[in-house]
Amino acid sequence: MTRADAIVVGGGVAGAAAAARLAAQGREVVLFDSGDRGGPKVCGEFLGGGAMAELDDLAVPLQALGAVGVRSIRLSLGRRTVEAPLPFRACGLSRRRLDGELLALAGRCGADVRRGTRVRRLTRAGALWDAEGVRAPVLLLATGKHDLPGCGRPAPETPYIGFKAHLRPAAGRAIRSGYRIEIGFYDGGYAGLQPVEGGAVNLCLIVSKDRYRALGRNWEALLAALAREAPAFASLLDGAEPLTDRPATVSRIPYGWVHAPGGIGDGRHLYRLGDQFAVIPSFAGDGIGMALRSARVAADSIVSGGSAADFHAALGREVASRVRRAALVGRVAEAGAGRGLIFAGCRLAPRMLTWIAAGTRAARCPPP
Ligand SMILES: Cc1cc2nc3c(=O)[nH]c(=O)nc-3n(C[C@H](O)[C@H](O)[C@H](O)COP(=O)(O)OP(=O)(O)OC[C@H]3O[C@@H](n4cnc5c(N)ncnc54)[C@H](O)[C@@H]3O)c2cc1C
Repeated sequence: MTRADAIVVGGGVAGAAAAARLAAQGREVVLFDSGDRGGPKVCGEFLGGGAMAELDDLAVPLQALGAVGVRSIRLSLGRRTVEAPLPFRACGLSRRRLDGELLALAGRCGADVRRGTRVRRLTRAGALWDAEGVRAPVLLLATGKHDLPGCGRPAPETPYIGFKAHLRPAAGRAIRSGYRIEIGFYDGGYAGLQPVEGGAVNLCLIVSKDRYRALGRNWEALLAALAREAPAFASLLDGAEPLTDRPATVSRIPYGWVHAPGGIGDGRHLYRLGDQFAVIPSFAGDGIGMALRSARVAADSIVSGGSAADFHAALGREVASRVRRAALVGRVAEAGAGRGLIFAGCRLAPRMLTWIAAGTRAARCPPP
């Protein structure tokens, strides 16, 4: 049996950042992560100003890691497009590289990082949490969208599936998509294209289960639908070379979930971080910023002797209304008419796009 000050379950951005911060403050931390090599995570890999500020604070060398700067956002519907500058700085970096760097940082700060270990059960031994034979008074739950038995979320699941694939774009197109993020709508979902390190782009798609079923649950059929229904977007992929055999997928995404005060664990030093605390719709591109922010606030709370309940209440005040606002914009955009209306508004006044980009974010973003 190992005794520690804190156990972190989950070594994505939230868990790794929290472990690094606590270990840097002299706490004995054991982190468990089930993904042995930070496997492919379904994510748009867009880092907004809030995420970048948190990463700067952790001294993560984004530029040296190859992060690609992004200055504007372009929306397309059919053959029409509208572009506007982002009101905050932003960049793209693969999750493989980012998560790997944060886990290495946690190790350098002194955390005991145990990769390739899935925690199957959490138990209580008096006032201590027990995970895989490690006992500690404080538990940080950072398992992302994956729930642990007994710590689950009663949130309704949204009927969406997410896909992600890295591609190497044809020469001219790499430059065109190098400084902006692209979002293209199609029936039943939308796609995002984000430049990442090494000249690659990350294609990330969200599609409703119904539409995917109608397409025979087939990735190639989904790409063909994208090419038909979002030609302006899809033209950027002409001649692109896939860098993986199959896309990574995720389903049952609880968009709009925010941990309610008084929920499971509030009284037992159980801190919910990242997607375990709240899940902002993907189009906001702010889940990573929120996860990093939650790690910092939790570490501060633990070091200053605060309570998990106070931490959850403070974080909720900061992010809940923005998560709900983003979920509302997402619901409006789900319907064809709503999508058309948002698009027409942005064409008429491109600043509206800038406003939506700023207004649906939960993390604070300094201007570029
Ligand atoms: C389609 C899609 C696109 C997105 N695009 C963006 C974007 O462009 N920008 C952005 O900022 N956000 C985006 N997000 C959101 C972002 O990916 C998440 O908010 C973020 O990853 C949350 O970080 P986390 O650390 O809480 O969880 P995760 O990054 O999911 O990490 C959880 C970790 O816990 C580990 N784990 C799980 N269960 C166990 C267990 N039992 N034992 C041990 N380890 C375990 C997993 O292996 C994983 O490493 C997107 C989300 C989706 C679904």
